[in-house]
Amino acid sequence: DSTIAAPRTQANGGSNSAGGEAGATRLAVIGAGPGGYPAAFLAADMGMDVTLIDPEPNPGGVCLYRGCIPSKALLHAANVVHEAAAAAEWGLDFGTPKIDVNRLRAWKDEVVRKLTGGLGMLTKQRKVRYVQGTAVLTGPHGALVRDADGSEQQIDFDYAIIATGSRPSTVPSLALDSPRVMDSTSALELESLPETLLVIGGGYIGLELGSVYSALGARVTVVEMTAGLLPGVDRDLVLPLQRRLEEQFEEILLETKVQSIAEVEDGVRVSIAGAVAGPEERTFERVLIAVGRRPNSADLGLEHTGVRVEPRQGFIETDVQRRTAEPSIFAIGDVAGEPMLAHKATHEARVAVEAIAGQPAAWDPRAIPAVVFTDPEIAWAGMTEDQALDQRVEVQISRFPWAASGRATTLGRSDGLTKLLVEPHTQRVLGIGIVGPGAGELIAEATLAIELGAVVDDLRFTIHPHPTLTETIMESAELFFGQSPHYIARDRAKTRDRGR
Ligand code: FAD
Repeated sequence: DSTIAAPRTQANGGSNSAGGEAGATRLAVIGAGPGGYPAAFLAADMGMDVTLIDPEPNPGGVCLYRGCIPSKALLHAANVVHEAAAAAEWGLDFGTPKIDVNRLRAWKDEVVRKLTGGLGMLTKQRKVRYVQGTAVLTGPHGALVRDADGSEQQIDFDYAIIATGSRPSTVPSLALDSPRVMDSTSALELESLPETLLVIGGGYIGLELGSVYSALGARVTVVEMTAGLLPGVDRDLVLPLQRRLEEQFEEILLETKVQSIAEVEDGVRVSIAGAVAGPEERTFERVLIAVGRRPNSADLGLEHTGVRVEPRQGFIETDVQRRTAEPSIFAIGDVAGEPMLAHKATHEARVAVEAIAGQPAAWDPRAIPAVVFTDPEIAWAGMTEDQALDQRVEVQISRFPWAASGRATTLGRSDGLTKLLVEPHTQRVLGIGIVGPGAGELIAEATLAIELGAVVDDLRFTIHPHPTLTETIMESAELFFGQSPHYIARDRAKTRDRGR
């Protein structure tokens, strides 16, 4: 459908003409990550005249160049190392892996090159005008783009979508300009493998990258300020991961703070203090700081527009259509708020572009899945147990342990768990959490169920293929009625068939 209902402003002469028909709505998209490039592509498909601006040679953003994709390529390699080691127990001994870090890096870079190159081709095929540079807004209908050589060009637009993403947070007391101190971007470059690595921050980025370096042979220590890994994530899901990481990592120090770091001859000297360790000083060959991410909302020229920024964290404020306080400017992705996830950015892209096209679009997901790609993976969608407690929502919980799953046993991985949260009086599925290998794939079914307003019966009466891990979702629903064929709940006597 190429009907564009939105009015085109006449302020500028349309000199940026790209793919759209004469008189088409001129859209500028600032930032070409998983928010920006899908927005540009959809707008072009709908007939708009689209300019996409980003400093990289091709679209991709943080996700493809220095986030989701390179980290998942390296985590796949890490999982192969773990699988090969585990197989020794079943009589398949592959010996000690020989790791060629140069080839591994080249492979990871090739994955990124293929995907970003593919996006470059799709940009051309859609006749989206790609401008390599950094944009600064000059007003509600214009931006100045500066390229790497310093040359500048003015882009005029009817509408703009800001999709400038985020960057790693820094901690002033840990600021040290040294190649031994990495953030997620430099850690993913995988220059070389340190013997010892301190990961500051037990969030998902720290644990994913720590897992990569550990599988490749580094002795990894994690320091986390709060009382548990992955703050905010359901403890039932974190526990199996924590047990496994305790075996893989040198040490996990919870309720511990790094107070200062300093470069010394053989590494980085770190002063730590916490519940278990310290105060004491330790030396690591390298340090990875992974303490969160900050939105890229500064230096965008927002002061020349009516766009408002939320003062505490710096997210751009938007309404349900992702329109900012400046009617011609929208904001999506990491720069527009939590959760800072690629698929959330991509969904917002659709909402914003449809709103610009005058369609009745709104941001109203029932569930946004989240995945931690460690081994085991953790994934959840919808409400968590803690959220239910905080919001005083009555829930009935069923926990299906993977020890009762045939498929999990064939994989040698019975440490997983599928957890179902149900609203008792309606039997509506409110949330699903999964820990175990492949949880990131399994959560798609859970998300669909919640999005469609499924009740427990929908999950238990849907025939799931055998033997698969998807059966754990079906059996967790059966367990809700005390009827799982493979697992007898301890409180079975109290359960009854509420289904019919
Ligand atoms: P970004 O991807 O950050 O892209 C923004 C782009 O805008 C960048 O290219 C930037 O250079 C450009 N830009 C900034 N300022 C300007 C300007 N003034 N002018 C022009 N261009 C500008 N999310 C997941 O969902 N799954 C994962 O597995 C996952 N793994 C991750 C692993 C790591 C190590 C990291 C760091 C992040 C990971 N994320 C993951 C988060 C994910 O990368 C982000 O949520 C996602 O990239 C956000 O997309 P975005 O379009 O908002 O912005």
